[in-house]
Amino acid sequence: MSLSIQTKCLHLKEAEADEVSPCSSSSPCNHYGSISFPIYQTATYAHPAPGQSTGFDYSRLQNPTREQLEKLVCQLEGGVDCFALSSGMAAITLALELFKPGDHIIADSDLYGGSIRLFDNVSQKNGISFTRVNCATTQLETLITPATKAIYIETPTNPMMNITDIRKTAELAKRHGLLLIVDNTFMSPYFQNPLELGADIVIHSGTKYLAGHNDTLAGFIVVASQELSEKFRFLIKTTGAGLAPFDCWLVIRGIKTLAIRMEQAQKNALEIARWLQKQACVTKVIYPGLPDHPGYETQKKQARGFGAMVTFNVTDEAKAKAILGSVELIQFAESLGGVESLITYPVTQTHADVPEEIREANGITKATLRLSVGIEAAEDLIEDLAQAMEDK
Ligand code: PLP
Repeated sequence: MSLSIQTKCLHLKEAEADEVSPCSSSSPCNHYGSISFPIYQTATYAHPAPGQSTGFDYSRLQNPTREQLEKLVCQLEGGVDCFALSSGMAAITLALELFKPGDHIIADSDLYGGSIRLFDNVSQKNGISFTRVNCATTQLETLITPATKAIYIETPTNPMMNITDIRKTAELAKRHGLLLIVDNTFMSPYFQNPLELGADIVIHSGTKYLAGHNDTLAGFIVVASQELSEKFRFLIKTTGAGLAPFDCWLVIRGIKTLAIRMEQAQKNALEIARWLQKQACVTKVIYPGLPDHPGYETQKKQARGFGAMVTFNVTDEAKAKAILGSVELIQFAESLGGVESLITYPVTQTHADVPEEIREANGITKATLRLSVGIEAAEDLIEDLAQAMEDK
């Protein structure tokens, strides 16, 4: 699997270089044989003559480097079309543009805090209403009203790692004519392809595993139908949050190692999750790759792996803060999915804007820590956690 996806990326680059090249229509262009896809740092494009176009008019609409990246991610997700945006939040914001005042969306209650902030402060102001429940455990059918237009989930959720059955949720959505939108950031297309399980739209924060190096922001929308493709082409052209050429290039470069990064990070995560389970100050370890996780069986059915995000609770707030202040190799920072391991404090960082009652209902406490496991040597990461957990 790892090699096939990686090769797929590289083949796509070669096979499709002509297709996305501005000179492909008249003469084949292989970008002078460049192995690294060029950065087309241009805002606009000269037209050969009135009524003629190179296929590119203005970079808000299309840019060859962006198009190359979009084709890569589209292929990895098995979509009909893909849109590269300036951040994951730009992608989610654009996806919400599909809805109009009066529309209702069922959304998981445990989502990235920024998505909840968007829904609460922007989408609701625009007349869209939300019912927020644990989509992994709730019978969603009873929540559907004539105004319901979509179901919005993450699986695993951020940060509590709940697993929703994508296939079943997609069947329900189809029966009621709803869109199923899945934020697939935590899995990356390497481990999970929601469109193949029946979802309509996949979202990514490309900042995370796709780019993979904690050095750029990016976001993606991948769609399963031509109709959605046309809607988003119009929206990206109109609202203008397309990803800039250099950032596209960084993500293209990151994707070349997606497979080996995901494999190594997942291997480390499982080792760390098992080690955490044995530590006296750790009261709970939540990782879908542990057989006692309630979503373990569903995850095995719908994904090719368990990812590299591990959430755990320690004895109390003081212990959590002591660990955050003592890690050395692992860095105390928000974000995830990069080669460097990061530890996050959801209550004051990623989920600070989630209303306290929702946070508590979801199980996020002041003793909850979230670990994005990177690709360092597992023993070094464990040694760092061990020294950070020592009573000082
Ligand atoms: N979706 C998930 C699951 C995330 O964790 C994040 C950010 O952490 C986002 C979306 C937003 O992505 P970005 O930070 O690229 O805007």
